Amino acid sequence: MAPGRWGAVVIDRRYSRQTVLDGLGEDGQASLKTTHVVIFGLGGVGGAAAISLAAAGVERLSLWDGDRVELSNLHRQTLYCESDIGAWKADCAAARIRAVNSCCEVHVHAVDATSTRLREWEARSGEPLSLVIDATDNPVARKLVSTFALRQRLALISAAAIGWHGQISCYRMDLGAACDRCAIATRPHELDHCEGAGVAGPVPAVIGGLAATAAINVRLGAADQTSTLMTWDARAQRFGTLQIPKRSACECALQQARLERIDPRKNARGGADMRG
Ligand SMILES: [Zn+2]
Repeated sequence: MAPGRWGAVVIDRRYSRQTVLDGLGEDGQASLKTTHVVIFGLGGVGGAAAISLAAAGVERLSLWDGDRVELSNLHRQTLYCESDIGAWKADCAAARIRAVNSCCEVHVHAVDATSTRLREWEARSGEPLSLVIDATDNPVARKLVSTFALRQRLALISAAAIGWHGQISCYRMDLGAACDRCAIATRPHELDHCEGAGVAGPVPAVIGGLAATAAINVRLGAADQTSTLMTWDARAQRFGTLQIPKRSACECALQQARLERIDPRKNARGGADMRG
């Protein structure tokens, strides 16, 4: 089904249970339509975030993942089915998203993000970006994504799940608030990789849903203006939240000062080149 096949009346009906909400409405839906989210990592968390955003009416997604679907992914990565085994996750995710919402424009990067690839993409694309979701599962990738978001001055939502625990951070780097490196002293513990430790099947989908909700909140101006961390203990069914203070000696503060020296108009709330 080609994008644009749906007429305005059908589009209105499609989102009618959402546009009726306080704080969203027709204007909010129009804002979601032009939102461009970059998602790194299409496992259980990133896949759930991607499909939730597309279903909710976010019509531009850039998906980065260099892995193929494996049998051991299927208990938690609900975006994929048995026939996807062996195929690139980014390709399968894009096909599923287009099937759910044919208006969604999906840019597929079925490779691992590297510093060189990201810089080339930034130079080539010129596409306005709205925010970044980091659902990768290792510290090297997370640092890379954080550097990208900092350079682009985009809000960064970082989400992870392992065992019976999940955590989601919303770094308002678009507003000059704390970045993930400011948070190192604040985070209770690092949730890294579920390969060795395992993960309960439904946990990543919950965290992916929270990441998508956080992205919508940022876009609609409903999110906290400071950086925050939410943790979830799935067995105890307990959530916790805390604010992440900015460290004045952190790289993000130095970069912000550098940008403001180059161009004073580019203050914390100024326009990022790729923000849309
Ligand atoms: Zn920082």
